[in-house]
Amino acid sequence: MSTEDSRSPYKMAIKQLEKAAKYLPREREWLNAIEYLKHCQRSLIVSVPIKMDDGTVRVFKGYRVHHCDARGPTKGGVRFSKHVTLEEVKALAFWMTMKTAVVNLPYGGAKGGITVDPKHLSGNEVERLTRRYTYAIINMIGPMVDIPAPDVGTDSNIMAWMFDTYSIGTGITTHGVVTGKPVEIGGSLGREAATGTGLMYVIEALMEKLGINLSNQRIAIQGFGNVGSNCALQLHETHKPKIIAVSDINGGIINENGINIPDLVEHVNRAGTVVGFEGGINCTNEELLTCDCDILIPAAVEKQVTAEIAKEMKASILAEGANGPTTPEADEILKERGITVVPDILGNAGGVTVSYFEWVQGRDAYFWDLERINKELKKVMITAFDEVYKIATGKNVTMRVAAYIVGLKRLVKALMLRGLFP
Ligand code: GLU
Repeated sequence: MSTEDSRSPYKMAIKQLEKAAKYLPREREWLNAIEYLKHCQRSLIVSVPIKMDDGTVRVFKGYRVHHCDARGPTKGGVRFSKHVTLEEVKALAFWMTMKTAVVNLPYGGAKGGITVDPKHLSGNEVERLTRRYTYAIINMIGPMVDIPAPDVGTDSNIMAWMFDTYSIGTGITTHGVVTGKPVEIGGSLGREAATGTGLMYVIEALMEKLGINLSNQRIAIQGFGNVGSNCALQLHETHKPKIIAVSDINGGIINENGINIPDLVEHVNRAGTVVGFEGGINCTNEELLTCDCDILIPAAVEKQVTAEIAKEMKASILAEGANGPTTPEADEILKERGITVVPDILGNAGGVTVSYFEWVQGRDAYFWDLERINKELKKVMITAFDEVYKIATGKNVTMRVAAYIVGLKRLVKALMLRGLFP
């Protein structure tokens, strides 16, 4: 096992923080704030026992971590995956703090999860698991405390059960306790596609700066869940680039002439995987990541672009849809090779941005149309992109370091203004 495989995602996140902190003032107050941000404010581990359909009881492990609430109530998704660990949830919570600061939302960072493969559970079992988990963390969440949302392995149905359980438990119908809800019960139009849409807006802005026509680009996408599939669809509908390779947990498919995305979505809806799609030939995960394309979009999970992959990658742009897909070692190699990285804390911030719109709409009980949602989303993403790009070019640093500089400045300022209790 190489060092980067064995390193916990949280250590990797802190390494990113330390790297960017070198570009910040070295005064005592700044150093104190950076030290503060290296720690999560609170982490809860819960047992989640549920009755399975066959009458047996199984006990799952659940987590909720608040990283930092200096800029507002904490915010972040809930992940259902067999790979969930405390270290992973802490890293994801940290990235939420950074992400909400980069796009300037009045939130802090949090994350939650259950170590479970939801595909092995029935729908009723998933519902019981979700409700029992929500009950177990009920004192840690709330519309002005911490607001969960979907992440890998969770969706709007799960948010509906979380909203319902919290509302029953507190006796108050509380739309603002979770985002990513179905639109029928206080969800926002555009939330489902928001992460993919936001990533497309950032890619568009980058292409404009580089003077490249997005329609001529060949794109490969790792992951065809919420982020990957929506990004592919948005790109297809808006720019018609050649999306030449797509993968999911079961494998990948490749077609040099471009994959027909609407047909692929239909296939995935039927088969549950991209594998077996007739409009392409099978490929491995590694073949996808190193295929001959212009833009690579990792939209799955952490630590996919390793040093080995970074050496072999053909794309000249890596646009991160996933959280933490690139290891620090790979980052160095990509920099040396002149590959532009759109970092996760900027690239995938569209999801939490429309979550914020959902929260605002819920508070006003007044809902916006899709046109307004996407217009406001674009404004947030482009403003953040411009700030990050300006620092990256001005200081000659990567866009990841620049994004950390933008986010850290806001966080350090908030910490200074609030002061340290007592
Ligand atoms: N899970 C998403 C993310 O990683 C969305 C979080 C949210 O909407 O609060 O950004």
